[in-house]
Amino acid sequence: MTTTPVRPPTAAGLAVELTDLTRVYGSVKALDGLTLHLAPGELVALLGPSGCGKTTALRILAGLDQPTSGRVEVGGKDLTRVPANKRDMGMVFQAYSLFPHLTVLENVAFGLKLRGKDAGARRKVAQEKLELVGLSEHGSRYASQLSGGQQQRVALARALAIEPSVLLLDEPLSALDAKVRVQLRDEIRRVQIEVGTTTLFVTHDQEEALAVADRVGVMNAGRLEQLAPPAELYSAPATKFVGEFVGLSNRLPATVQGGTASVLGRDVPALDGSTSGPGFALVRPEAVSVVADADGGATVTAVMFLGPLSRVTCLLADGTDVVAQLASSDALRLQPGQAVRLEVEPSPVLVVAG
Ligand code: ADP
Ligand code: MG
Repeated sequence: MTTTPVRPPTAAGLAVELTDLTRVYGSVKALDGLTLHLAPGELVALLGPSGCGKTTALRILAGLDQPTSGRVEVGGKDLTRVPANKRDMGMVFQAYSLFPHLTVLENVAFGLKLRGKDAGARRKVAQEKLELVGLSEHGSRYASQLSGGQQQRVALARALAIEPSVLLLDEPLSALDAKVRVQLRDEIRRVQIEVGTTTLFVTHDQEEALAVADRVGVMNAGRLEQLAPPAELYSAPATKFVGEFVGLSNRLPATVQGGTASVLGRDVPALDGSTSGPGFALVRPEAVSVVADADGGATVTAVMFLGPLSRVTCLLADGTDVVAQLASSDALRLQPGQAVRLEVEPSPVLVVAG
């Protein structure tokens, strides 16, 4: 996870309000009462598994699709029935969508021509946006002469050239290899903060969502399960779905009574949304510590070295596997077969029923 970048004082974006959106395709409810508000200049990542309705939400915000019911407002104006070409939104999709027969500069200037800007103004703005994405030297090339990552930066420059009120990104990094994906992710964030455009970033990749967003909205089956800053989403999941979808969690037998969960013999606060009575606590690997103890009731089964951190897998007497993430200096003192005691840190946990 990254720290939250400092916002410039002059973020110029508009508020976006999606209210109670539904979208029905035949027997499929792609959206089922989605309500999502973005503050001016905010970057919200919509995160969820394939088919949960992310693209449908983005297309409805763009005006490329109509909701069955519900409302779309930008900057306080109701745009629900306004056509896409009057909505003033910049878009970047997963597939490279540059025009192959135009140069990079012409690609970036394309939307300005549609808006009736003269050639000189088009060139100036396009050159500025290419500079913003670090490609000012590549204006005269054709798309086919660029790498995938460069093409997506051109697509971003093109989306920003019209100085949109809202920027929409639908899995913009999914076609790129891992290293370029991280570089471009950070670059998108830098540029977005610089221009201050309110941005909806759709992804199925949780690490990407947590790294890039002011707030992450987790979607499941057409609904928003939780909308929260990345660190809060991670440390205080509101639902079972969020707890299991975001990050890696152990499921440890637990009992909840009066807001307190008993896990591995320790009492910790139970998060809102927890079940009561017996259930399973969702406990992060980094919240488990492993202590050598001949009577500890658990056994180390594997130690996996990951660099500064290591992952230690243990088996409880009841057959539960528990994964702990420890500093390698601690983990490397442990051996498979060794008897240990497991402890959870005293931070709040979500306890789910099944
Ligand atoms: P995501 O982007 O999260 O993967 P989508 O918004 O594309 O999900 O799709 C949500 C659901 O709506 C899926 O079940 C999908 O099959 C369905 N769907 C999307 N678009 C259409 C369409 N044009 N016609 C029929 N079903 C659709
Ligand atoms: Mg999609």
